[in-house]
Amino acid sequence: ARTKIIAGNWKMNKTVAEATSLVEELKKELATFEAAAVVLCPPFTALVSVARLLQSAPRIQLGAQNLHPAPSGAFTGEISAAMLREAGCRFVIVGHSERRRYFGETDAFLREKLLAAVAAGLRPIFCVGEELPDRESGRWPAHLRSQLQGALSGLSVDALSQIVLAYEPVWAIGTGRNATPEQAEEAHALLRKELEALHGATVASKMPIQYGGSVTPRNAGELLAQPDVDGLLVGGASLDAGSFTSIVFAV
Ligand code: 13P
Repeated sequence: ARTKIIAGNWKMNKTVAEATSLVEELKKELATFEAAAVVLCPPFTALVSVARLLQSAPRIQLGAQNLHPAPSGAFTGEISAAMLREAGCRFVIVGHSERRRYFGETDAFLREKLLAAVAAGLRPIFCVGEELPDRESGRWPAHLRSQLQGALSGLSVDALSQIVLAYEPVWAIGTGRNATPEQAEEAHALLRKELEALHGATVASKMPIQYGGSVTPRNAGELLAQPDVDGLLVGGASLDAGSFTSIVFAV
C-alpha cells in the first residue's frame, strides 16, 4: 500500500513570525500522529526557521515551493536544489500551475527541475492538471497525458521512485469548487494508467498521486477514500492550524 502524504503549500503567505506560530501549533496538534506523512511548504524566507522548529517533530517534513535546475550561477532571484537541501528540505513542489501560468514554465524546463531535485536528494511533488476549457470539452485526458510525457519521459526508475505526482485541476484551485471524489479518482486512475504505459507497472503502482484544489476539512475524507488518491496538496486550508490538522486527521 502507498503511504498517504498530506502537504501544505503555503504559496506566498506567512512571514517568519507567522510561520513560527503556525508550526508551533501544528507540532502540538500532530505530536502523536503517524498515519500519514505530513509535509509543510513555506516560502523560501521561512524555510530555515521552520526547519529548526521541526527538528523536534521528526514526523513533519519540510518542502520548498520551487527550485532552479542549475547548480549555481548567474540566475538572479533563483534558488538551487543544494541550497534547499542545506536549508533542511526533503521535498520540493515542481510545476505548480501558478508557476506554469504566471512564470511560463514549460514541460521541458520542469523536466530539468525534476532531475536537479532528485540528484540533490529532494523528492519532487510534481503537479499536473487541466484548465477549465479542457475539462469542459473533454480534452483533459490528452492534456494530462502530454504533461506527463513532456516532463517524465526518459527518466530513470530511480528518479521516478522519488517523485510524488499531484493532480491539481486548475479550475479547482482557490475556487471553492473541488473535483468530486469521482472526478479525482477518474483522473488519478488515468494518470496511473499513463504512468504504466510510459514506465511500467511497478513505477505506476508505487508512485503516490495527491489531489489538490479547494481541499477542506469537509471534503478531505471522501477524496482520500478513493483508491488512487494517495494524499492531498492543500493550499488555502493549510494556512490555519485547525483546518490543516482536521484535513490530516481525515486520513
Ligand atoms: P487551494 O487549496 O487553495 O485551492 O490551493 C490548491 C493548491 O494550489 C495547492 O498547491
